[in-house]
Amino acid sequence: MKRPTRHPETAAVHGAADLEKNNGPVSTPIYQSSTFEVTDNDEQQRVTATDRYYTRWGNPTNTVAERAVAALEGMEAALTFASGMGAITTTILALLKAGDHIVAQRDIYGGVTKFFSQWLPRLGIETTFVDTNDYDQHARAICPNTRLLYVESPTNPTLRVVDFKKTAALARQHKLISMIDSTFGTPINQHPAEFGIDLVMHSGTKYLSGHADLTCGVICGRLQLMEQIWETRTTLGNCMDPHASWLLIRGLKTLAVRVARQNENAQRVAEFLEQHAKVRRVHYPFLKSHPQHDIAHEQMRGGGGMVTFEVEGTGEDARRASEAMHLFTLATSLGGVESLVSIPVLTSHAMISAEQRQKMGVTEQMVRLSVGIESVEDQIEDLERALEAVPARASVPVGA
Ligand SMILES: *Cc1c(COP(=O)(O)O)cnc(C)c1O
Repeated sequence: MKRPTRHPETAAVHGAADLEKNNGPVSTPIYQSSTFEVTDNDEQQRVTATDRYYTRWGNPTNTVAERAVAALEGMEAALTFASGMGAITTTILALLKAGDHIVAQRDIYGGVTKFFSQWLPRLGIETTFVDTNDYDQHARAICPNTRLLYVESPTNPTLRVVDFKKTAALARQHKLISMIDSTFGTPINQHPAEFGIDLVMHSGTKYLSGHADLTCGVICGRLQLMEQIWETRTTLGNCMDPHASWLLIRGLKTLAVRVARQNENAQRVAEFLEQHAKVRRVHYPFLKSHPQHDIAHEQMRGGGGMVTFEVEGTGEDARRASEAMHLFTLATSLGGVESLVSIPVLTSHAMISAEQRQKMGVTEQMVRLSVGIESVEDQIEDLERALEAVPARASVPVGA
């Protein structure tokens, strides 16, 4: 696997510049065109496999975005999609067929859980869900027809960290394709390909775009896999719009700066919350109390911008605290410059049964923060004030 040749701070700004000539535009032009003129029918046939045929197949602005993300991940190629879910579903439909089997960790994005457990069985593809950090259980779940090992790290909202080396080794040993949802990790904080993961996916809606103004998905990998996925994308049709692509390109230029600031702010926020009397527990990969703290430090350059905490109180108290925040806006999603707060059991994990949530360790007391790039002093002040909405009390039993 190709290693990144430039530092992420440089690749983020220049990866999206595709200037072939002098005096060209510094900002990438938007090819807001569904089709491209050819001189004759021989040429028409030649261009079908390029980004100048028809935009469902490819588009020059999309290509710039794709090259930028591939460079950031240090991978051969990338493909963009209309959403993160579009990237995941298309990839899996491209690479698996009826009779195939998936091993997936239990803590994954709710939409993917739904796709694996409710949609894929209709096509004859079964999934076994395993404990996120139990690699023996992963190994035991692998069958002769297993094709894919699917992981996500850090996880939502519990921020568990997956061991990339173990995941890649297991996949190699059993000849499986390994795929990671690296949305929370960002290409600034982690490069799963360096550890041998085959496919790296991002909901570009989040950190890559960084301004809560578009939805998109990106998958990166080696050319041979990408070609199959590209072929499927042209059929399923969930390509990205060139205008959204341009917004993504603009967002990528500040990715490294934004994430560096979010890492710093989130670390301070996590430390503040950890010593607060009304907080029972804080989940953040770079806190010493985090169960995978050592692995996180080994494979991540920063702890990321997501912090989850559990209030010392009830689910109702968690709701009250989230509504009392002003700087942290109550909204689902994450990864933008602005700080957001959400209650996982009411948003990202609302479609998951209480029993499954319990297995995942997602509690009603959980509050998920997407820490933005504002002043950390203001962020902490907002949290301090909002936590006053939680009544002081002796420890309440879990689940109350
Ligand atoms: C948001 C998200 C997705 C889905 O991405 P969309 O762009 O909303 O389709 C998948 N995985 C994770 C971790 C996410 O946060």
